[in-house]
Formats: sequence, structure tokens, C-alpha cells
Amino acid sequence: MTGTMKLDAGIPSGPIEQAWDKARFDMKLVNPANKRRHTLLVVGSGLAGASASATLGELGYNVKCFCFQDSPRRAHSIAAQGGINAAKNYQNDGDSIYRLFYDTVKGGDFRSREANVYRLAQNSVHIIDQCVAQGVPFAREYGGSLENRSFGGAQVSRTFYARGQTGQQLLLGAYQALERQVDAGQVTMFPRSEMLDLIVIDGQARGIVARNLITGQLSVHMADAVILATGGYGNVYYLSTNAKGSNATAIWRAYKRGALFANPCFTQIHPTCIPVSGDYQSKLTLMSESLRNDGRIWVPKKKGDKRRPNEIPEDERDYYLERKYPAFGNLVPRDVASRNAKAVCDEGRGVGETGLGVYLDFSDAIRRLGEQTIRERYGNLFDMYQRITDEDPYKVPMRIYPAIHYTMGGLWVDYQLQSTIPGLFVLGEANFSDHGANRLGASALMQGLSDGYFIIPYTVGNYLASAKPAKVTGSHPEALAAFAATQQGIAKLLAIKGKRTVDSFHRELGKIVWDDCGMSRTAAGLKEAIGKIRALREEFWQNLNVPGSSDDLNQSLEKAARVADFIELGELMCIDALERNESCGGHFREEYQTPEGEAQRDDQHYSYVAAWGYTGSANPPELYKEPLEFAYVHPSQRSYK
Ligand SMILES: Cc1cc2nc3c(=O)[nH]c(=O)nc-3n(C[C@H](O)[C@H](O)[C@H](O)COP(=O)(O)OP(=O)(O)OC[C@H]3O[C@@H](n4cnc5c(N)ncnc54)[C@H](O)[C@@H]3O)c2cc1C
Repeated sequence: MTGTMKLDAGIPSGPIEQAWDKARFDMKLVNPANKRRHTLLVVGSGLAGASASATLGELGYNVKCFCFQDSPRRAHSIAAQGGINAAKNYQNDGDSIYRLFYDTVKGGDFRSREANVYRLAQNSVHIIDQCVAQGVPFAREYGGSLENRSFGGAQVSRTFYARGQTGQQLLLGAYQALERQVDAGQVTMFPRSEMLDLIVIDGQARGIVARNLITGQLSVHMADAVILATGGYGNVYYLSTNAKGSNATAIWRAYKRGALFANPCFTQIHPTCIPVSGDYQSKLTLMSESLRNDGRIWVPKKKGDKRRPNEIPEDERDYYLERKYPAFGNLVPRDVASRNAKAVCDEGRGVGETGLGVYLDFSDAIRRLGEQTIRERYGNLFDMYQRITDEDPYKVPMRIYPAIHYTMGGLWVDYQLQSTIPGLFVLGEANFSDHGANRLGASALMQGLSDGYFIIPYTVGNYLASAKPAKVTGSHPEALAAFAATQQGIAKLLAIKGKRTVDSFHRELGKIVWDDCGMSRTAAGLKEAIGKIRALREEFWQNLNVPGSSDDLNQSLEKAARVADFIELGELMCIDALERNESCGGHFREEYQTPEGEAQRDDQHYSYVAAWGYTGSANPPELYKEPLEFAYVHPSQRSYK
């Protein structure tokens, strides 16, 4: 079903270079004395949520910040390894704001909004200044200036990093800024609290229902605006590089309250993860893309070659990325690297016991630079690899295979980062973001911090000054109704008393979406997957077993609510993937490929953002389209050759 509402992104007119300045000047302001009269809810304390809460607190708003972990420091952002992009051009290697903008639009396979991406590139330089001022210990060169390395999809070195722990160090910076505001009484933290519903009153987002995960207590929080910064939904696939707790519940429940969900099928498969080793594994581990700076990817030329890697002579190895893409080599974007790894494994040239692996080999780099330099650059990643596989990557090549890692889709937002529900803003990985159909490495941290430090402080003020939300309390009928509905939802899960664990449902869902809505997709596979997911949903509501009660810590109950949402979202992902009859970025439909096996877009028919609206659990979702225009970076067949 196609909806008729016009999706207006509100992009400022005029030259793109001046769009954000113009927008900021045109925005209404809240005067300092009035800011303290406003309460804002920020759900999420990762890089996007912590930076937003800290900045909004500093501005004088009353902020309530929620996270399901015991501390904001444990948000999934802490796992980010490789780095953060910025167009500082410290290397004098040809970088500029325009080039970062260009690379990101091209990298996203021409499915992102140009004005947003340009603003992201502009903000990138401020992020580094802000983080350095906070004391984030970025790697430095001998002379003291900040060091850069390269990430996929770029021919310049613009990635700032702190060893293999960039996310952790950036999060500590944002966390300190947040804690300063907690101490100042501007931000109140609600750890171990999970948002389970959005309260919408007169069409505006006015609050949330949250559950205390320790006591089980439900509570209502009202505010003048709600900001979701709840991360990505990669865990739909069960096995992913995301933290086990990462989930889609906040954005999914907001979708059910009227926010549109954009491009759900745009998910990112990262090429360098430790391969799956068994049926009962519950987590996958990323080996950062930064390793592709020095590691060379190869497989044996011969099919089924079972020799150990060091027994395979140089001329019997296929460095397939260097061979096929000489201009970018091992640093092609993630979608291209992942698809090529799958292709060589499908040909029977994969390595390791399962044959689902390729080598990432550092022997050349160790010979050239010495083991110590490699240890300094990637020591913690090498240690992690050794602990998990019991193999020493200083001596034998790593084995890697693609795995689900990031979600470009998310709630639809306009240029102000506002969803289709006025007063509901969405930041970081939770929104459909600036990355089109494929995110380039080191650009998620950039986007989360750009949204939190540099965009939301302006746009939420503009909303408050324009919409002037009236006072409401938790006893409003809509708030009471949302509270009651949440209570009933929990009771329903506990009352099923079936035979299957929530993990078994989640694992089955993950296999369906990985097989049919993963690295490559077909119309027939997607149709079958939709049928299987519907059947799984039916069984879930009849045969799930959630032990325990809702009155205290109950992790099965937490998971059950999240998996119920994942099942519904998994179906929407397949519906979206089926509707998009083209290949672009991470969305590879086997029917649409060039003779060389590259993704073949259909700009004439699919150059739009697909935003889906909820119409009830028994009805098909409604599709709304935001047409995309490319006035600066003209769509072309992406080439990294
Ligand atoms: C292993 C790994 C390595 C990565 N490395 C890089 C890298 O080097 N460079 C890069 O740019 N990107 C990297 N990424 C991607 C990047 O880390 C994420 O996209 C980014 O950190 C997401 O930040 P966020 O603030 O949007 O969300 P998150 O950090 O996921 O934070 C989500 C927050 O929302 C809270 N939350 C969620 N749901 C609820 C709810 N219902 N109620 C209350 N609170 C809720 C959580 O408690 C948490 O505080 C990596 C990702 C992975 C998995």
C-alpha cells in the first residue's frame, strides 16, 4: 500500500555549503531563562544520547536520560574500535569537506540525502576539536599532531583513532561531559530503565513509559520533547557484532505510535569479523576495518586447498580485492568487500573448517614495519583475536568472514532530525541516518556526535519555540492508556506459558533473515522469508515460555519483549527489500547485478527513501516515498577499480 502524505525533509534552499548556516539563522531560539522551564527526555546514553544530554544540560534544559545498562559508559558505542572520520586534512593528502561529502554520498550508493551529508562533513571538523578539548587521547604522530589512518571507500587518510578503542575513548569524553551536568543537577540519569512506549498527545511526542529492569516497576515520564538515541537493530539477525542488549524496542514502539520507519532493509554486513564456529554461538566479534590498512586479504587460487596458509606459495594465492579493485585494493567499501568474500567462498575457495572464511594477512606489514609497530597500531585487536581463536595473528593470518554489523535504516527524520511525530527527535544509529544504502567505516561515530553535540541543540530549541507545547501531566488519559497498554503487554508475554525459550525463537528468526535478507536477496527468498516470519510470530505468541515474574530482574522477560519487536521488524525488513527491485549498497538483489557482479541500481524508479507507516498488526504497512535529488554528486555506477 502506498501512502499519500508528502514527506518533506525541510532542506533549506540555496547553496549546500550555506544550508546549515542558513537553517541555524532561521531557527527560533529559546532564551536562557526559558530553557530551564523545559524538560527533555533523552532515551539512550551512547555517543549520540550522551553528547545530546550533556549539551542540552549545559544549555540549561532539564534533561532526563535513560539507558538500560547500569551506566552510560556501557552503551554499545564503547565497542567501536577503528576510528572516526573528519575532514581536517592534517595529512595534506587532498582531503576537504567536499571530498568527505562526496565519498559519503558515493559510498552510500546514492541513496542518502545530500544536504544532511554535507552538514555531517562540515560538523566532522568541530567534533575533533570538541573531543580533543575534552581530553580524548587520539593517537598522535611523533611531532604531536593527531595521526590519521585510512578506512574503506576513501583514498585519503582522515580517520582519527585511539588505538583500537576509539569508541570507548570518545564515550568517556561524552560521559564526563554528561556527568558534569548530572552533578550540576541539569541531567537526571535513569540507568537500568527501558523505554517500552511513547506517549503521544494531540499528535505530539510528550513522554515515555519506562520499566525499571531491577524492580520491574513501570513509570511514566512527561516532557516537552522526546529524543531517541537508542542505537541500531542489527540484533534482528541474532548473531551480530552488536552488544547482546542492543535492540529495536524504542524505535519500534515509536513506529507503532506513528513515526515512519525508513529503509529498514538497508543493513550493513561487515567484511572482517571472526567466522562463526558453532550452532550455539550467541555473539560475533568484529575485527576492525582499520586492519585493512595493513592486512592483505586473500584465499587460495585452488578450490578446496586445505594446506596451512604458510604452506601456500605466493603465486598460488589470490589477493582478490587487490586484483579486482586496484585503485582501492583492500580498502574498498564494506558492501563490496563482503560480497567478494562471499563470492570466493561460494566458489569453494574459502578457508578454515567451515570454508566460510578468508585470510587477513599481516606478514608483509610485519616484515615492512616490524612487529612492534603493528602491536602499537592494533595490539588490543590482535589480543582479542588470539583469545577467541587460540591462533596468533602475528604468526598466522587471521581468518575473517562477513557478519551483520550496522543498520543504515531507522526512524525517518527530516533535516531537523525530527520524526514524523512532532516533538520526537531521533539521533545516531536509531535514525535512518546519512549513510544511504551503505555506511562507510568510521562514519557512525561521526554521525552520532554530529547529531548530539552540534545539531539537536539547535533543532530542539527551534521546535520548543515554535510549537510551544502546552503543560501536560502523567495523569493525562493518553499517558494512562500507554501505561495500561504496557502493563497488559508484559502480562501477555508472561501468560503464554508455552514450551520454547525466547532465545530459540530469536535464533530461528536470525537464520531466516540472514539466509534471505542478508548479504544477498531474491524476490523468491524474500517472499518465503515473510511467510516463515509470520508463522514464527504466530508460534511465538502461543508457545513462548517466559519463566519468573515481572516484579523483579527478569532477563527472559526483557528479551521476550525485544524479540517480539524484532520478529515484526524482521518482516518489515523483508517487505522493504522485496519492494526495492534494484541492488544498492548493502541491499544486493541477485536479480539486479552488472555483468561483473556489482550492484545495479535503478535510479529511474528507486531513487527515494522508502518510509513505512504502521497500520495495525494485521494490516500491511503503508509506503511513503521521499524522492532524492542529487544536485552536487551525480549518480554514477560506483567504481572502486
Ligand atoms: C564492534 C563494533 C565496532 C564499531 N566500530 C566503529 C568505528 O570504529 N567507527 C565508527 O564510526 N563506528 C563504529 N561502529 C558503529 C558505532 O559504534 C555505532 O553505530 C554507534 O556507536 C551507535 O551509537 P548510538 O549512540 O547511536 O547508539 P548506542 O551506542 O548503541 O547506544 C544506545 C543507547 O540507547 C539505550 N537504549 C536502547 N534501547 C533503549 C530503551 N528501549 N530504553 C532505554 N534505553 C535504551 C542503550 O542503553 C544505550 O545507552 C562499530 C560498531 C560495532 C558493533
